[in-house]
Amino acid sequence: NFDFASRVERVEPSATLAISNLANELEAEGIDVVDLSVGEPDFDTPENIKTAAKDSLDAGDTSYTSSNGVAELRAAIAEKLQADGIDCTADNIVVTPGGKQALYEIFHTLIDSGDEVALLDPAWVSYEAQAKMAGADLSRVDLSPYDFQLEPALDDLAATVSDDTELLVVNSPSNPTGAVYSDEALEGVRDLAVEHDITVISDEMYDEITYGVEQTSLGSLDGMADRTITVNGFSKAYAMTGWRLGYFCAPEEFVSQAGKIQSHSVSCAVNFVQHAGIEALRNTDEAVGEMRDAFRDRRDMLVNLFADHGVDVPVGDGAFYMMLPVDDDDQAWCEGAIEDAHVATVPGSAFGTPGYARISYAASQERLQEGVERLVANDYL
Ligand code: PLP
Repeated sequence: NFDFASRVERVEPSATLAISNLANELEAEGIDVVDLSVGEPDFDTPENIKTAAKDSLDAGDTSYTSSNGVAELRAAIAEKLQADGIDCTADNIVVTPGGKQALYEIFHTLIDSGDEVALLDPAWVSYEAQAKMAGADLSRVDLSPYDFQLEPALDDLAATVSDDTELLVVNSPSNPTGAVYSDEALEGVRDLAVEHDITVISDEMYDEITYGVEQTSLGSLDGMADRTITVNGFSKAYAMTGWRLGYFCAPEEFVSQAGKIQSHSVSCAVNFVQHAGIEALRNTDEAVGEMRDAFRDRRDMLVNLFADHGVDVPVGDGAFYMMLPVDDDDQAWCEGAIEDAHVATVPGSAFGTPGYARISYAASQERLQEGVERLVANDYL
């Protein structure tokens, strides 16, 4: 009989839970489920990164590191971000156990109870939960009328944010839409952020996974260096979800405040995992390129398959997700699709955008094809 804190009571259980429970039940019955709900690459971590971790363990890198991260890794991250046009040094970097923890620390560093956080819907599920746990009130801009592009929604964004907005979250390439926002869109965000003195989180978790377009870092735009917190990690680009390694880059005064949360909670990211991260950043371009090519081929195949069945899916140029238009009751559609067709997807309402199902194409072409065939055979397409 606990008197729970409002911070947990304000957060809903994940809308994806019902789907993964159903998938687990079916699999326990021996039924083959085509799982297009996963948010992680289906590839193994590249061999050179694993070797670096083993070597690091053998070298005895098993103690705590400095709380903000191993100096050489922070330097390698700063180098990567400088190449993206962000003016930073190792002192601007905090290495965290996953990008999710980076976001957690950022929200808790900036948000007081009642502060306003603006999201672009559909938005990755944990932004809302984390913002609410920090006490935020949310304002939201719906990108679904614009095929999930940001540029045509700038007027809506301008009408939503104000001097009361503390923080805006931008995620390009986007989970769940795959959209990569244009430079014009990002410049529009910059103008609003400067006008209303808004801090912006730029979640660039999928920046290595783009197809024929370059992802621009918000923090590289004039006027944004002092107000952008750039978040990234190793999970998606290097197929390292289980290693738990991420980071953020922020002005030094922000780093010293957020560093208190890091040092009093997780202390630091895992020592030998950080050493593997150095190898990932410095020597993995080829493997990253191969994964990118595979994702691109799958995206193209899937879009064509949907088109063959008369379904027009807004195609993004990055990440490994797309939003399939489905019934208004997307939760029922997703539950039905898994029960009848044994295909698992995630309801768009989990991302603030009902009427869609998020498809992850981090699965082989055979499985994607099988998934579409099953949806067609069961009248879900
Ligand atoms: N940001 C986005 C948009 C994501 O999709 C994810 C993972 O699904 C994360 C952040 C967090 O990733 P991790 O904590 O594995 O670094």
